[in-house]
Amino acid sequence: MKTIRDFDLNNKKVIIRVDFNVPMKDGIILDDNRIRSSLKTIKYAIDNNAKVILMSHLGRIKTSEDKVNNSLKEVSVRLSELLNKDVLFIPETRGKLLENTINNMNPKDVVLIENTRYEDLNDKAESSNNETLGKYWASLGDIFINDAFATSHRSHASNVGISKYLPSGIGFLIEKELKALDLNNAKRPLTIILGGSKVSDKIGLINNLALKADNILIGGGMAYTFIKASGIDVGSSLLDKENIAFAKEMLEKYKDKIVLPIDSVNRDSNGLIRTCFINEIRSDETGLDIGIQTIKLFKNYLLDSKTIIWNGPVGMFEESPFDNGTKELCNILKNIDAVKIAGGGDTASAVINLGYKNVFTHISTGGGASLELLEGKKLPGVIYEKENN
Ligand code: AMP
Repeated sequence: MKTIRDFDLNNKKVIIRVDFNVPMKDGIILDDNRIRSSLKTIKYAIDNNAKVILMSHLGRIKTSEDKVNNSLKEVSVRLSELLNKDVLFIPETRGKLLENTINNMNPKDVVLIENTRYEDLNDKAESSNNETLGKYWASLGDIFINDAFATSHRSHASNVGISKYLPSGIGFLIEKELKALDLNNAKRPLTIILGGSKVSDKIGLINNLALKADNILIGGGMAYTFIKASGIDVGSSLLDKENIAFAKEMLEKYKDKIVLPIDSVNRDSNGLIRTCFINEIRSDETGLDIGIQTIKLFKNYLLDSKTIIWNGPVGMFEESPFDNGTKELCNILKNIDAVKIAGGGDTASAVINLGYKNVFTHISTGGGASLELLEGKKLPGVIYEKENN
């Protein structure tokens, strides 16, 4: 797999696919984290005398009205501030203006092309990886670098499409994500905290993690399906009936690895909140968080771990007091000297919103992409090996 370091960028037109899919409201960027995450790659290209051509998507474009709220113009302004350098915004995704501007670039110039998903109005050309579009975009540059981790599990014209026609590699962000989420090279013991709502969303994940991890601590809504599978009633808690058999099979096969909650924080039909041992959940109670005994139990495993990967909140963290388990696990992690990684689904937003961003060695920037990596899949947007390189 080639990285940006493997190319001579001097005086080359380098197309970098970044992820500038930032949250925006009324034209204002609410969080510029994604722009910041790509700065290292962009600065490296500038420092190495490249003509830097940036591409990104922003939101979804289904009708021409969607274009109004999803232009990358504001992003170019913010990027210019962060780089302390002019960034030329090109308000189109193909055409003479785009081509002429690129042909007149000098080394170290930076341009940002308009939202790649504007092309979805042409029969989903971007999202369906239209061959002609990928080839056209590739014709604008000499080298292609993909650094948009959060879309790297998708085959779009602006990542997979372009890479077919240019010498291609990955940027620093994708490199960092791949390293952080590489279970094969993780220091051991490797402990996984698994939470979130449904077992059905995590079957691939559980199958792969069970093979690779030393301990799997299961909390969140999905824990109740496992508890039910172990023969204990869970009252009105979230239950993924179709996957009780799968949970049972996993429990039998990996009984030395899977650790289930031993107590539960529940709310009953009158709104009363009560903590009880796991075999005491009443029929009108819904389990919404792990209890103190479970936190202590999980702590014992975490203290011995050298790598901890966390996917999915262990309780309904959006509502107090059911955020307690997730918060307490963050507090425990704070004092543990291990590689600590949060990734997939809601995990990143949960730990950041609860104020624990600094606890982690790495918080993945891609929900779906990080899940697929943890499932052991290869990402189509990552240029692993190619004949034309
Ligand atoms: P996921 O997207 O699968 O990671 O799931 C995240 C969601 O799981 C969050 O919205 C949590 O509120 C929810 N969740 C976590 N624990 C529970 C629980 N015990 N019961 C219901 N929902 C839960």
